[in-house]
Amino acid sequence: MIGWSATLDVGDEVSLVLDVDSSSLRVREGTGGMQPLTGDDKANIEQTINDEVLLRTPIRFHSTSVDLDDRRLSVEGELTLMGQTHPLAFELAVEGGTRLWGSVVVKQSEWGMTPYTALFGALTVTDEVEVGIDVTLGAAEEYELRRPQELKPALLELEGISRSAVFAHYNLYEGYVAKRNEIVEKLAAVDRGGANQVSSALRALKVELAFAISAIRNHELYFEQLGGEGRNPAGAVRRLIERDFGSADAWRADLKATGMTGRGWAWTAYDWDEGRLFNYVGDAESTFPIWNATPLVALDVYEHAYVLDFGTDREAYIDAFFANLDWSVVNDRVWTDRIPLTR
Ligand code: FE
Repeated sequence: MIGWSATLDVGDEVSLVLDVDSSSLRVREGTGGMQPLTGDDKANIEQTINDEVLLRTPIRFHSTSVDLDDRRLSVEGELTLMGQTHPLAFELAVEGGTRLWGSVVVKQSEWGMTPYTALFGALTVTDEVEVGIDVTLGAAEEYELRRPQELKPALLELEGISRSAVFAHYNLYEGYVAKRNEIVEKLAAVDRGGANQVSSALRALKVELAFAISAIRNHELYFEQLGGEGRNPAGAVRRLIERDFGSADAWRADLKATGMTGRGWAWTAYDWDEGRLFNYVGDAESTFPIWNATPLVALDVYEHAYVLDFGTDREAYIDAFFANLDWSVVNDRVWTDRIPLTR
């Protein structure tokens, strides 16, 4: 079974709700036959379940009473199967506070279902079906799945940075979004009990999440701000740059040099604690953004950003980056993030 969700609410009143997409049931093995089930047999049985038995109808259980102690969960409630709702009671063992396991016996005829046979009668399902349950509880963590921002058409007309480089780079960005969504789903179910600083599933997911989320933010900043005419900064950001770097040339030279030292990123950010702009360096997507600083310009210096067009000539790529900067986007950031223009 791959399409299901269960919520065990352990507030003032304990309740359990389980929803199952019946078409997600999978045949894992058959026992007692002359021969093991083949892949085709399993697929045929799944099709029969969908087309003739459960008809892709949703399966839902909701509790009417739940008793929970350290070792046992006793549940009474109602199961809806094929549109019919009947009472069902079962007990599960509780292990370590987070694992529930046991089984529930469902007598199909009570829900008006005729036990089916498959493989010309060679496989017969008994009226009483035992459903094994083994779940690990995760904390309630609700995350929206994110979608990648669309590729803006101006990115296909950059000076010196080719379409194929932009497409390849954008594909990486889509991958970061997909991985972020995958990680937050895994986090909902990961075992917190095994958390460990040397190695643990939770640690791996948390580190990977920092990388994926930072990569999304970095690339959205990066792609949004390209597609302009380059030249010198104008408007509010020009005032900030001239105040904090002396001139646009000095800012450009410092960001370029910072980019030459970075293994991943260089950012011009407004640091709210320092009260000024600074060019910060990053060695990876998630190192080393500064707390309480707002990035205004994001320069990707990972090799994937330039190797297709410039080989290993990072300096030439950084020059092309400056030539394509859209200062109106950077100024929008100054206004949207309410960066103060005076100290
Ligand atoms: Fe990148």
